[in-house]
Amino acid sequence: MAYVPHAKVVTWLDDPTVPQLGGNRSVRRTPVRAIVVHTTWGRLGPLFEGSGDRIGRRYVAENVRTMQKSWDFTVDQDGTIYQQNDPARFYTWHATIANPFSVGIEMAQRMDGTLYDTQLRATVELVSVLARVFDVPRVVPWRRGAPDLRVLPAVRAGRLGELRGVFGHVHFTDERGPGDPGPFPFAVLRATGWVGIEWPANGPS
Ligand SMILES: [Zn+2]
Repeated sequence: MAYVPHAKVVTWLDDPTVPQLGGNRSVRRTPVRAIVVHTTWGRLGPLFEGSGDRIGRRYVAENVRTMQKSWDFTVDQDGTIYQQNDPARFYTWHATIANPFSVGIEMAQRMDGTLYDTQLRATVELVSVLARVFDVPRVVPWRRGAPDLRVLPAVRAGRLGELRGVFGHVHFTDERGPGDPGPFPFAVLRATGWVGIEWPANGPS
């Protein structure tokens, strides 16, 4: 894993209780060109200052137990990042049609949908590092001055090949709502110099 400047990344190499994924992943055959951010409950909730309780271990354990679903990174409510896959070699099963060309990040969440700013900051740092490592363009889905939190028209039109950048689970499926992952990661990235574009892309928006 590339060095993430402030956030702490824990992998199976550091800690045997963060096991590497087993069979629930596929060999990567196409390069990574997208990063997909999730929330574990997919609920829109408040963003609180500081850190929340460490609840991420439950999701780490779930990640290796579940057979039809997996993801690469879990960001806990205190900003600790758990990594359970090498995204350069394998892709995980987190966003259906986007899986073969993406990396998946889950922000750990309780049922009330709360997120914490330490957690959000760690997520944004991780996204920035992954974008650099995999040469993913620094763009976020944006429409009418705000994060676009719908299934993208490009996805509805089957134009997956043109998608590059950072996305959320909501952009790929009607099964998840705008709370997966909500507006915050996109808003912070946009505020730190990333470009907001509509998909299909008609230039900066
Ligand atoms: Zn999701």
